[in-house]
Amino acid sequence: AKARGRNNFQFFTHEMNRISDERLRLEAAMRVALEQDGFSIAFQPKVDHRRRIVGAEALARWHTKDFGTVPPDCFIPIAEETGLIVPLTEIILRKAFAAASKWSQTPGHAITVAVNLSPRLFLDGKIVEHVARLISEAGLPPEHVELEITESIFLGDSGRTLSILKGLKQLGVALVMDDFGTGYSSLSYIRRFPLDIIKIDKSLVTGIEYEDDGAMIARAIISLCQSLRKTVVAEGLENQAQFDFLRYQGCDEFQGYLISKPLPEQEFADLLIASGG
Ligand code: C2E
Ligand code: CA
Ligand code: CA
Ligand code: CA
Repeated sequence: AKARGRNNFQFFTHEMNRISDERLRLEAAMRVALEQDGFSIAFQPKVDHRRRIVGAEALARWHTKDFGTVPPDCFIPIAEETGLIVPLTEIILRKAFAAASKWSQTPGHAITVAVNLSPRLFLDGKIVEHVARLISEAGLPPEHVELEITESIFLGDSGRTLSILKGLKQLGVALVMDDFGTGYSSLSYIRRFPLDIIKIDKSLVTGIEYEDDGAMIARAIISLCQSLRKTVVAEGLENQAQFDFLRYQGCDEFQGYLISKPLPEQEFADLLIASGG
């Protein structure tokens, strides 16, 4: 038993070294990619109850020579820990706004663009200035911009968080509570903070068409949002039964593989034109 314990330990430290090595290599590669325009965006459409495209969510993509395609669930946490999330978000915002500014020049295609903001950005007070500058540089109407935040931003100094959120609201953008229904105190947050849109997490959408509990929770969230006059979006829709159920319950907007996977910019623009705006 003792020998096995030691082997496990050796395996464990070996495994940890391997993982931390890989993190360091990824971090170094990220720094290079930030310098050399190595990050791109995929756009996932968001539709209304008639399946007309009303917006797009910008999702970061990273294709590398050494590691292949690295998923955001892998590189976003590293970016957050190293502080690289600040320059990365600036790049994503700039690219997303540039794309949205192009779409807005096509008549009849006024759609919104949504960008994910990590909690880490709320620690440095510059986020409001940055977003303001990038919106004006892109010449984009601020009402076409949505910023998605998650509940974890409320874990910090809530006075400071509130003042940053108010500053963003004053720019004229909409604030989206992402992944709603996965945390603990969500209900109090949507009363206390100036949120415009609530996005029901895909974990609640999965199984909604045959699970009584999930269906009841989604129904309660939708009716709560209606009383508070918030727009409610559901993400992660993969089948028509989920769409039909949520639409029947009064959900305003829908996102998921059922509608479309996240697409490269040109493919998204083609879809937008094909769908007639
Ligand atoms: P998220 O913001 O909740 O984004 C939704 C994720 O679900 C995306 O994964 C999307 O591709 C995926 N998805 C969309 N529809 C479906 C569906 O019908 N079924 C399933 N199973 N999945 C679906 P992705 O692109 O891998 O991003 C994962 C997470 O990484 C995002 O979750 C977000 O938290 C983070 N992320 C991505 N891009 C950025 C970024 O630019 N900045 C920040 N801070 N975070 C980002
Ligand atoms: Ca999101
Ligand atoms: Ca989400
Ligand atoms: Ca998520």
